[in-house]
Amino acid sequence: MADRVNTLPFFYGNITREEAEEYLRQAGMGTGLYLLRQSRNYLGGFALSVSFSGRCYHYTIEREPSETFAIAGGKSHGSPQDVIDYHSQEMDGLVCLLKKPCNRPKNMQPKVGPFEDLKEKLIREYVKQTWNLQGAALEQAIISQRPQLEKLIATTAHEKMPWFHGAINREDSEPRLQNGSRTNGKFLIRQRDVNGSYALCLLHEGQVMHYRIDRDRSGKLSIPDGKKFDTLWQLVEHYSYKPDGLLRVLTEPCPRPDGETGIIGRPLLPRDHPGLSTLQHAAGGLLTKLKTVPLPGRKKSRESRHTTENLNPYETRVATYSSGKEAMPMDTEVYESPYADPDELRSTTVDRSQLFLEDGELGSGNFGTVMKGVYKMRKSEKTVAVKILKNDDNNASVREEMLREANVMQQLDNPYIVRMIGICEAENLMLVMELAELGPLHKFLQKNKQTSIKNITELVHQVSMGMKYLEEHNFVHRDLAARNVLLVTQHYAKISDFGLSKAVAEDQNYYKAKGHGKWPVKWYAPECINYFRFSSKSDVWSFGVLMWEAYSYGQKPYKGMKGNDVLQMIESGQRMDSPLNCPPEMYELMRTCWTYKADERPAFTVVEPRLREYYYDISQ
Ligand code: AMP
Repeated sequence: MADRVNTLPFFYGNITREEAEEYLRQAGMGTGLYLLRQSRNYLGGFALSVSFSGRCYHYTIEREPSETFAIAGGKSHGSPQDVIDYHSQEMDGLVCLLKKPCNRPKNMQPKVGPFEDLKEKLIREYVKQTWNLQGAALEQAIISQRPQLEKLIATTAHEKMPWFHGAINREDSEPRLQNGSRTNGKFLIRQRDVNGSYALCLLHEGQVMHYRIDRDRSGKLSIPDGKKFDTLWQLVEHYSYKPDGLLRVLTEPCPRPDGETGIIGRPLLPRDHPGLSTLQHAAGGLLTKLKTVPLPGRKKSRESRHTTENLNPYETRVATYSSGKEAMPMDTEVYESPYADPDELRSTTVDRSQLFLEDGELGSGNFGTVMKGVYKMRKSEKTVAVKILKNDDNNASVREEMLREANVMQQLDNPYIVRMIGICEAENLMLVMELAELGPLHKFLQKNKQTSIKNITELVHQVSMGMKYLEEHNFVHRDLAARNVLLVTQHYAKISDFGLSKAVAEDQNYYKAKGHGKWPVKWYAPECINYFRFSSKSDVWSFGVLMWEAYSYGQKPYKGMKGNDVLQMIESGQRMDSPLNCPPEMYELMRTCWTYKADERPAFTVVEPRLREYYYDISQ
């Protein structure tokens, strides 16, 4: 959304209310003249400034939990632009209709807030150090979890600020402010209790003033009767340029006694914008001080095995936050490659004596059953899924098929693909894989109808990331369907079942089947059925069907129809209707995946960024 809003000529980015008024004034203050700017107190929100009768009026456009936008208490809309379109027709509480956009002066780009500038650096460093990731795994983690990471960084960044002194009491805060320079406006923030209330302590004419910062039920922070903010750093930003009820503006952050200041290399000068400086400082702090935190169920990083005892309270809180309710893929055991440590997984042969099967099936398929198990490796043990070849089926062809699947899986290494741990030849032939305990996507969605569109989009986007990897490595899956997407958690999907998959020659880029087999025709592109021709483009077609299954909460595609009827329907140019309540953008993407001619169909290199963009849009 932010990217799209950035292109609006009347969007000014992170400017203050006063700056907005100045632009409206310069443009003549006509009735209904308006501009849009980024909210400086609500994450992901906007502010609308309108002139009427020689005065400026400002309205906050909040981003609602349902991913819609509304002027507080007003009607919800799909985007800030829709809010503006609506209020050009309906006053509905506004002082006047929005008549004329006040466009940015020529060559002026929307103003980037100080936090925006540092966000990239902070996110990268945070992921690198928290999960000890690098290379492709690091990039993929950032791509798939950007909205969550941005929020995490935004809401915990204050813990790295020099002005944040943690849980000290009033008595301890005063000498800190009185020590050293006694500049008016010198300040710190301390934590008052565990319910998320804080205090702002401000030096004014040699005296320390204490302002309570309370958190309301919706989690917003404010000084009593003051403006509300999503984060402490936004609050500091605000009171750094405007007293707004305080005795004076905040000027100089009071350094923590643990010597964490000075990372930016020079003492703060009064003319420095405290918000910006402290954010720069925060980046320095994070970059130099973030420690790798062991997360539950995850092994510690190899390079730096810090324990939580080594962490100060702020860092510990960062740690607990990141292991909070909504676990990210990187928090799980199966994000990082099991091949990352060659000492741990030296060969793809699994020693039967180290493999322990548990009672109860995870599922069953063509080959036999899939059981949960534990594989004891050299340094650690791993819970695994074990595909066990039926004994009575131990004939050469099925066995070979399973070995072929193992051979394909062995060549793939991506966080969004179920990885093979190894093959075990014992009482049965067994394929040992990473465990995705929540099982197939379609069944999960059938049982969990409350799953949000955002959550579905997150999962479908992860599948597209895995498919982009397959495409890049010249593999065709040939059985891409919701039943073959397994969930590790509600927020982490992996592609599985490589029984039909093939490596394709780079120059030819398709696989030609010798004849018709037991095929999932409802997922197949026309060229697969008509010419037995399989490529990444035909996987894209299947991906469109998978999307349809996901957004229809696990319904069967082309319900009640025979394979032949489906083919006829496709040949006649018809396609499945949109699932109920499916976002139009996503149905549009499915339709593009169902482009008849493979050459005209988009590749995963196109599909993935489109999904990514939509996912970021709805989850900011
Ligand atoms: P398949 O033979 O690959 O179609 O697998 C049959 C069923 O076993 C799947 O539908 C899943 O319910 C289960 N299963 C297969 N692989 C795994 C895995 N890696 N983790 C968890 N469950 C799995």
